[in-house]
This record gives sequence, C-alpha cells and structure tokens, in this order.
Amino acid sequence: MIPMVNLKAQYADIKDEIERGFAETLDNCAFILGPNVQAFETEAATYLGVKHAISCASGTDALHLALLAEGIEPGDEVVTSAFTFIATAEAIKYVGAIPVFAEIDAQTFNITAETIEKVLTPKTKAVMPVHLFGQPVDIIAIKALCEKHGLKLIEDCAQSFGASVNGKQTGGFGAAAGFSFFPSKNLGCFGDGGLVTTDCSIAAEKIKQYRNHGSKERYYHDVIGYNSRLDELQAVVLRAKLKRIDQYNAARRHAAHLYSELLVELPLTTPYEDGVGVHVYHQYTLLCDRRDEVMRALQSQKIGCAVYYPVPLHKQNVFKNECAGVSLPVTESVAANCFSLPICSSISDDTIKEIVGVIRSVLDA
Ligand SMILES: *Cc1c(COP(=O)(O)O)cnc(C)c1O
Repeated sequence: MIPMVNLKAQYADIKDEIERGFAETLDNCAFILGPNVQAFETEAATYLGVKHAISCASGTDALHLALLAEGIEPGDEVVTSAFTFIATAEAIKYVGAIPVFAEIDAQTFNITAETIEKVLTPKTKAVMPVHLFGQPVDIIAIKALCEKHGLKLIEDCAQSFGASVNGKQTGGFGAAAGFSFFPSKNLGCFGDGGLVTTDCSIAAEKIKQYRNHGSKERYYHDVIGYNSRLDELQAVVLRAKLKRIDQYNAARRHAAHLYSELLVELPLTTPYEDGVGVHVYHQYTLLCDRRDEVMRALQSQKIGCAVYYPVPLHKQNVFKNECAGVSLPVTESVAANCFSLPICSSISDDTIKEIVGVIRSVLDA
C-alpha cells in the first residue's frame, strides 16, 4: 500500500526531539501561549522574513483573523480562486464579505492579475490569491494590481510554506497572509494549527487581540474576539519541523521532478513551473483526459491518488444561489481532468518508479 502522504517516516527522524519537548511541557504545565509558542512565532517570522508571525488554531482561522485585522466588512467583495479548498471562501464569508471567483490559468492552476482585474467592481476591497499546490501565484503582478486599485492583498499560504518568489518567501508580499499546519501540509503539526503573518504592527496587535477573546490585557475586552490559539504541544512539533523544512521541501521537489521525468511522452500534462517562483509541491497534480481509468488502475494496486478538487467552489451547493450564472471554463475543465499522486518528504525513488509503472501500463498501451 502506498498512501498519498506517509507521515511515519518523517516522525521517526524527529521522535526524540519531540518527545523531549513534550516531556518538558508536561513538567512545566504552561499549556496556553507558553514558551514554545512564543519561540515558534519568532523562528517562523525569521524564516519567512516578516516582522510579525502570530500563531492560531487553524489555517481557516488564520485567514479569518487576517481579514478581520485588515478591516474587511460585510458587503465587501474579496476576489479569490474557485479552484481551492473551501476554507479560503469560508473565511471570507465569516467576516460577512462576498467571495468573487476569478478564472485560473490553465498551466499554473492559479488566478492571475489579468483574471482578477476582470472581476473587480467598486465593492472589491481585497484579493486573496491561493498559492495552490505549493506553486506561488504571479505575486509581483498581483501586488502591483492591488496597489493600483487600492486593494488589500491577503495571501492564502496554506499550501505554500517555504515557497518563494525572487528569493522572498510567500506570506510576505501583501498586507497579511494565512498559513495552515494541518498534518498533511508541507509544514504540519499533530492536529490543527495556523499562522498569520504581517509586516504591520497595528494589524499584528489586532490579530493577537482577536485570537485571544478580544483582550489586550487579561479580563479587559474591547472587541468580541475568538478562542483561536496554537497549542503549546503543537508548537513543540512545529519547532522541530521548521528546522528541517527546506530539506522536506527539497525532497518534495526531487520527487516531483522524478515523476515528471518518468512520465514524459505519456498522454498527460505534468505540473508546470513558471521559473519565477519556487514550487514546493504540496501536491503533484496532473491533467489527463483518461484520469478515471488511470486512477482505477492505481487504486487496484492500493496506490493512493486523489482529485483536488473535484467540484470548484462556484459549483458547490453552498454557493449555488450566490454563483448562479458564474462560468469559469478553465477552472471547470481542470477540475474535470486533474488528479494528484502520492508525494511527501519521505517518498523514495523506487516508490515513484512503481507508481509510474502502473500509469504506463494504462497509457502506453
Ligand atoms: C488546508 C487549507 C486551508 C485551511 O487550513 P486548515 O488548517 O485546515 O483550517 C485553507 N486554504 C487552503 C488552500 C488549504 O489547503
């Protein structure tokens, strides 16, 4: 059996360090916003090259807190992608704003400055691009567009920890950004966790206040906030993995490049790299019009494979009324033909060869 993500091998390497950290935490009993959370925030800010990194309970919360801190309000429109996980749009709805879906590029699967510009209206207040599957969006052009129109840029970096553009990490380009530490993400903890980044100290103060019941000083509350803190034990895990994130992402890139090399000449489209951003391959996603046949063969050999995402957000039941009449042909065609193969930092060359062998047996015939 080959799973989509194998977290066991990664854990074996860091087990001792994590167990030591857990034991110390259990001894000192500082469970909420303790020393490891503080240290992790400092270390993450340094790694990401931002002034402030504020941890919270999940990636969904990180995006929600970022939108709150940037003052996005009911009735405001926020432009994002329909080809993403639902959480991107959920966060927009949580502040009462309206998600407006821009078309994606057929090669990168990301929204672009041109497609965003087409859906701007006088109500647009922010743009929330998703660095989907670990491939950075064309952030330089999108940032310029946001500046031209006075829009807040909030990056969804849930799938892009460690990805960069011109040597600068994703999560540092806009007003704020949200990261997820869901276990299968490039930097994952042992449960839920998230992080908001910003270079603005006023926004950072607001985010800290909102994540902790709206209080700056204990038992004094100025706004209605949330209980959204990163757990101290999760911070222990994240500190151990953050030290190794470049190595993990390099292993993912190696695996992706090997797949692409071995899959060459088959009737499918391997992932495109634009050469500007460094893709960290949260997913290795292909296009193939015989997808279902290939996936059935993989499944019969107990090889993991999955469709991210089968139903774009404008076609989801929850947005049926809101998005009536919205047509995104590229998004719809990609969703109908895409599928993802197993990838993680511990996948071996032999495993990749075995998977490609099964795909060849279907498509080479
Ligand atoms: C995982 C994910 C989120 C949400 O993160 P959680 O930590 O699961 O709440 C948001 N956006 C994208 C693109 C994601 O992949």
